Amino acid sequence: MEEYVLAAIEKGIPEICFTDHIPLPDGEDTEHRMAMDELEPYLEKIAILNRKYREISILAGIEADYVEGYETYIKEFLAGYHFDLVIMSVHYIRHWQSEQWVFNFEYSAETIPQQYHDYFQAMHKGIDTGLFDIIGHLDIIKRPGFPVLDTNRQDVEKVLDAAKKKGMCIELNTSGLRKPISEIYPAIEIVNIAIKKEIPFTMASDAHRPEHVGYYFDLLTNHLFNYNGLRMAHYNKRKCYSHLLAPQEIE
Ligand SMILES: [Zn+2]
Repeated sequence: MEEYVLAAIEKGIPEICFTDHIPLPDGEDTEHRMAMDELEPYLEKIAILNRKYREISILAGIEADYVEGYETYIKEFLAGYHFDLVIMSVHYIRHWQSEQWVFNFEYSAETIPQQYHDYFQAMHKGIDTGLFDIIGHLDIIKRPGFPVLDTNRQDVEKVLDAAKKKGMCIELNTSGLRKPISEIYPAIEIVNIAIKKEIPFTMASDAHRPEHVGYYFDLLTNHLFNYNGLRMAHYNKRKCYSHLLAPQEIE
C-alpha cells in the first residue's frame, strides 16, 4: 500500500483513494478480494499512511460488487465502517453460469446486445439500492468491435438517469487502456451523454500494481479540458463535492 502512495506522490497526484474489493459473504471469491479479517488492518494501514505522508490526501474506500441478492449484506457491511467513498461495480451477473466474469465472458446462450442488456439491468438494480457513491468501470462489458451505444443506447441512458437521480458519480477509468479494448471506461461517447446530464466524474486508474497509479491521467486530463460543462468530483466521508473542470490557462 505504501508503494501505491509513493507512486502517487511521485506523479504529483494530490489525492489517492484505496478501493480494495469488498469481502463477500462466506469467504466467497477470496482470490479477487480481501478476506473479512483483512479489512481492519487495511483501514489501519490507510490511517498510518495518512499520518506518515502529509503531502498527499489518502482516502479509505472500497469497491463493492453489486450482486443481486447481496443487498442486505452490502448494506450492513457498509454501515459498519467509515469509508470515504464506495464504488459500485458489476463483475458478474447472477443468472449467468458460474465463472462468467463480465470482463471475460463467453456466454453463448445470449447475443452480445442481450449480454450488454443483462449487465446494465444489473447495474440499474444496484444503483436503485442507493447504497453506492460511484459507478465503477461503467462499460467494462464492452467487446472490441461491438460499441455499446450502437445496440444498447437505451440501457445506458436509463443507467445514467438512475445514477443522476441518486446523486452518484461516474468513474473515468483508464484501466481499459491497458486491455485489448484500448479505450477508457466508459467510452468517451458515454462520457459526453453523462456530461449533458450533469453527472460528475472521478478519476481512476484501477491500479492493481503501484506502477498503474495515475495511469494515463495526464493525457486524459488534457483531453477532458475540451469538454464544456464537465464536472469533477471529490469525496470525503461519503459526501460528494463537485466542481467544473476549468479550461487550462495558457501562459
Ligand atoms: Zn472492478
